[in-house]
Amino acid sequence: MTPQIHLHVLASGSKGNAAVVEGPAGSVLIDDGIARRTLLARASELGVNMDDVRAVLLTHEHTDHVSGLPVFANHFDGPLFATAGTISARERLSQLPFEVINHTDALELCGMHVTVFPTSHDVADPVGFRFATTDENGELADALGYCTDTGVLTDEAGQALTGCRVLALESNHDERMLATGPYPGYLKQRIHGRQGHLSNAQAADALQDLVTNETEVIVGMHLSHENNRPSVAVRTLAAAVGAEATNETFTEARTPDGHLTVCVSAQDAPLSVW
Ligand SMILES: [Zn+2]
Ligand SMILES: [Zn+2]
Repeated sequence: MTPQIHLHVLASGSKGNAAVVEGPAGSVLIDDGIARRTLLARASELGVNMDDVRAVLLTHEHTDHVSGLPVFANHFDGPLFATAGTISARERLSQLPFEVINHTDALELCGMHVTVFPTSHDVADPVGFRFATTDENGELADALGYCTDTGVLTDEAGQALTGCRVLALESNHDERMLATGPYPGYLKQRIHGRQGHLSNAQAADALQDLVTNETEVIVGMHLSHENNRPSVAVRTLAAAVGAEATNETFTEARTPDGHLTVCVSAQDAPLSVW
C-alpha cells in the first residue's frame, strides 16, 4: 500500500482518549476525552495542525472519550458524528449538533472511505472505524483500522480490520495482572467480560486473522495503567506475528524482514504513525 493515511494518537487509556486520522483532504478527530489545552499541546508536539480537522467521530459515550468534546465543539464548525445511542446516552452530548451515524454506515470524509462497525462494550451503541483510500483505478491504496473499548471483536470488526496497513487495536490488560491486581471483583469481571476491554492475549490472538502482507504497523491501544505495561503488551503482540524487540525496554518490536512494526500508544505521550 501507499501511505496516504496517518495516525496521530494524542492520548490513549482510561484517563482520556483522542486520535487524529490524517487523510489526503483533511483530518478526522476520533473521540475527545482530554482537556482542550492538552489536546492542542499534544497535537503541536507532533506537528499536527488541528485546523485541518474537518470532522469528529465518536466511538462511544464513556467520559474518557467525550469529556473534552463540549469545549472543542465551541471552537469547531465541522460535523460531529456519533450513533444515536451514543448521543442520547449523555445530556451534554445530546445538546451538541450531531449528525447520526449507524453502526454499519459508510461515509466519505477528508478523501477517505470510512466504514463504521459495531464493537462490544457496556454502552448504548459503540463503534469502531476503518479508513481507506483508493487510487484513480478504484484500487485500494491505503487502509487504517481503529478499534478500542471492545470486550470481543465482532464479525464486522474482524472484517473491517483485516489487511489494514496500520492497525490500531485495543490491548487493554494482561489477564494475569488483572486477575491478581488490586481491582475489586466486579470491575475485574466488567473489564474481562464480553462488553469490557480486549486483553493483550485476545488482541494477539486476533492478529492471526487480521494481519496480512499489507500490514505494516500494529499499535496497541488503550493500555491499562494498573493491569498492563507497555513491554508486556508489546511482547505479547510481537510473539503473535514473529516480531522481535528493537530496544532493551521492549516497547517496540519488528519482524526480522523489517516489514511489520509493533508498538503501543500511551496515556501521556503522543505517537504518530506515518
Ligand atoms: Zn475507554
Ligand atoms: Zn469505554
